[in-house]
Amino acid sequence: MVAYEIMREKCPNIKENMKQCNCSYEPCERKGLCCQCLHYHRRNGELPACYFSDALEKTYDRSISRFIQSRNTVRR
Ligand code: SF4
Repeated sequence: MVAYEIMREKCPNIKENMKQCNCSYEPCERKGLCCQCLHYHRRNGELPACYFSDALEKTYDRSISRFIQSRNTVRR
């Protein structure tokens, strides 16, 4: 937790990242630290919230299969 706080203080992109972050999971300590967010979800076979629509993001299903399903639905 402390490590993320230090990263947040030092990250030069944190404000811009937060403008683009649609993640509604409030307790997450990686919010705005896109590199850490991506690493975390990649390790878990997932994608970050910003790959999903706001409505879908709120389901917290960040699986790659859900992402592909959402893209197929949009294109039909
Ligand atoms: S997408 Fe995941 S890691 Fe990124 S801010 Fe949201 S909950 Fe945290």
